[in-house]
Amino acid sequence: MIAKLLPVFAGKNERELARIRPVVSKINRCEEKLQTAPESKLHELTAGWREHLSGITDDATRARYLEQILPEAYAVVKNAARRMSGRQIDVGGQSMTWEMVHFDVQLIGGIAIHRGLIAEMQTGEGKTLVATLPVFLNALTGLGVHVVTVNDYLARRDSEWMGELFRFLGLSVGCLQHDQPPEVRRAQYQCDITYGTNSEFGFDYLRDNGIARTAEQQVQRGHYFAIIDEIDSILIDEARTPLIITMPGNDESDPFVRNKPAVARLVRKQTELCNGFAAEAKRQLEAGDTAAAGLALLKLKLGQPRHRQFLRMMEQPELRRLVDKVETTYQRGRFGKTLVHLKEELYFSINEKDRDADLSEMGRVFLSPKDPDAFTLPELDLEAGEDARRSFGERAREVHAISQLLKAWCLHERDVHYVVRDGKVTIIDESTGREMPGRRWSDGLHQAVEAKEGVKIESENRTCASITIQNYFRLYDKLAGMTGTAETEAAEFHDIYQLDVLPIPTHRPNLRVDENDSVYRTRDEKFRAVVERIRRARETGQPVLVGTASVESSETLARLLKRAKIPHTVLNAKNHEEEAAIVARAGERGAVTVSTNMAGRGTDIKLGPGVAELGGLFVIGTERATSRRIDRQLRGRCSRQGDPGRARFFLSLEDDLMRHHAAPDQMAAMIEQSAARASTLRGGWLGKLIEEAQQRVEQHGYKIRKRVLDFDDVMNLQRGIVYDQRNEVLHAEDIRQVIRDELRETQHEDRVAGVPPEMLAPLEREAVLRAIDWHWQNHLDDMDDLREGVFLRAQGQKDPLVEFKNEAYALFSGLMEAVRVTAVKNLERLAERVRVAG
Ligand code: ADP
Ligand code: MG
Repeated sequence: MIAKLLPVFAGKNERELARIRPVVSKINRCEEKLQTAPESKLHELTAGWREHLSGITDDATRARYLEQILPEAYAVVKNAARRMSGRQIDVGGQSMTWEMVHFDVQLIGGIAIHRGLIAEMQTGEGKTLVATLPVFLNALTGLGVHVVTVNDYLARRDSEWMGELFRFLGLSVGCLQHDQPPEVRRAQYQCDITYGTNSEFGFDYLRDNGIARTAEQQVQRGHYFAIIDEIDSILIDEARTPLIITMPGNDESDPFVRNKPAVARLVRKQTELCNGFAAEAKRQLEAGDTAAAGLALLKLKLGQPRHRQFLRMMEQPELRRLVDKVETTYQRGRFGKTLVHLKEELYFSINEKDRDADLSEMGRVFLSPKDPDAFTLPELDLEAGEDARRSFGERAREVHAISQLLKAWCLHERDVHYVVRDGKVTIIDESTGREMPGRRWSDGLHQAVEAKEGVKIESENRTCASITIQNYFRLYDKLAGMTGTAETEAAEFHDIYQLDVLPIPTHRPNLRVDENDSVYRTRDEKFRAVVERIRRARETGQPVLVGTASVESSETLARLLKRAKIPHTVLNAKNHEEEAAIVARAGERGAVTVSTNMAGRGTDIKLGPGVAELGGLFVIGTERATSRRIDRQLRGRCSRQGDPGRARFFLSLEDDLMRHHAAPDQMAAMIEQSAARASTLRGGWLGKLIEEAQQRVEQHGYKIRKRVLDFDDVMNLQRGIVYDQRNEVLHAEDIRQVIRDELRETQHEDRVAGVPPEMLAPLEREAVLRAIDWHWQNHLDDMDDLREGVFLRAQGQKDPLVEFKNEAYALFSGLMEAVRVTAVKNLERLAERVRVAG
């Protein structure tokens, strides 16, 4: 099957493109005229526009003006690119020749981005160059355009590469890098254009508003326009973990250390129990009592879904089906018992799909025989006194720690979900397989894993500032982006960010051949087939790029390739730059490159000489990812810019996606039928089944992200108020304006008597800042507790979000008042110190 030659557009997209096309013609006409003009014409035009824009303060007027000059401005950029052609430029210490002039589809992409859309353009279409158009146009305003990349290396590469073009046109370009000190960062933001990763931008925002003590320490100067490259990776994949700045807090009573031994014992008890279920299941199967066997297997699944024997038994389709059937029956309460009852026969139950752990009554009794209620939470009355609140808080922390420890033990496997190195627990990104140093799981999960591994537990940090990726990017007046894969998440982009996706045709027809999936019963069979397929490709010299879903799979495959004496490169690079260099060579004759799915994103794979005749790059996926988007991303690694290429996925029934989400019933039946003939299957409707499974996981992911956001939205309102206030204090000429009322009421003059007048303003500023930070950070702690609390209480009928909103409001309402009172007290104390010192 040949991939569609031309994307099929929904009517809406077609209309949008039809509206854009005349503008493209106009740009090209302008550009033609510029070809005969002297170079100085470009600079004149640019200077004129900047001059005019600097006088506009009204948003609507500015937007109208930009729209009006767009065709000519884009022509200027394209013409500058043309004039630069043949030039030697330096990117990352390497010399290369500039040989790009914007294609028409790139102009379309550039217009879409200026209009606040997501330009969906395939890999290799030149999105880096596309961005130069809206970046230039909007940078003319002097308000600062931020270009957001997925990693530091790409920020550096693109700022140098495209920087040549911008500097040619007289614009300044900056680039944020992780290790820059504040003065340097500030200078990058002063540039017309600033490249950087989402976390650099986000953390700068948090530091500016949560930590800076003076206006001079703040580095950002506003949020006008962010253009996000690989926008799905940032706004979808990364959006689950909020950006958090923490300070080491006090850890006198570390609930993780305290509860670790008990939880370890509990897990051992549960394992014994589960070993029993496994034995029981075997016995009953031999005795021919499938109903009893099914029940034992179901308990095993609830108690320890990653139990080795359980996993092995689930390799048999008929057993899979059995568990499934029993589970449904219990869900419906057919035997007068429901899943809830079964869970009570365990010490705790695990829901692998939702990554959740629940203590049962039996577990509670085991942990605290004398007082099992120590691990249940009472209702907290809003009117409750200080003591009741405190003891509720303590209990909530205990219960929470235990639940997190259980998750650490039963759901987070070493070398799959995290690695331990140099006494530190480092998260492995699920989709890239890359270690994420510095990132921590939230809500105490990280501490729980540290406790489990027996490494030093970083003290339960105090949040001093946090924001979700979503709410950070909503700060911008304008937001847009580009990626090869956005369409499957169009609804989420629309609902959360008001961003619409516009798929843009490719410059040349796409020749990629998408082969049908091959499905095997076991992982082993699958990997053997993959190795065999690679061997065949190598016979002709066709290069192969293999994408795996995890580092572990990459390593398994590498071992098999080694045994088969097939030379290959495994990509588990230490850094993005090295990785990019390896991926870039994946299209050379005879190359076999194994990498996790998302590694090397943003790097172009050019075909080596003669490779096109061999059929181009062959992409193999060893597993379907949990979202269709990531699969599309992998397929898109081949057949760039009209190259030939093919892609094929090899799957097995033991893959996570199949185990958790596909319809095991139908799948198993199918496998059985075909087992007699061959262990491989191809079929269109199987593909549909898998896509449905992926869609379910995507929706589930969306629900989780939405949830994180719903909670952050409550916070966002409060954060906005507090940050505004704090900024007012930082920037006010006369701080007394800000807190005048309160201070006057309390006889301000008396309190600061004896303080030299020139010291008054800094003293007041300090007094108020300290008050704001003190109360805000306490408030953040309270909000953390509250969040945990409402979830634990959610066992009842109440919606945690509603509870959270109400209580958060109550907590916040007293905050500003408390700040004023403390500010006055601080001022008194500071003034006293000055008097003593003087
Ligand atoms: P994408 O981000 O869309 O995957 P890149 O921006 O990395 O693509 O560009 C891919 C390759 O295409 C680069 O090698 C770039 O030099 C080349 N390229 C982009 N635009 C043009 C153009 N207009 N003419 C020639 N080459 C181009
Ligand atoms: Mg790119």
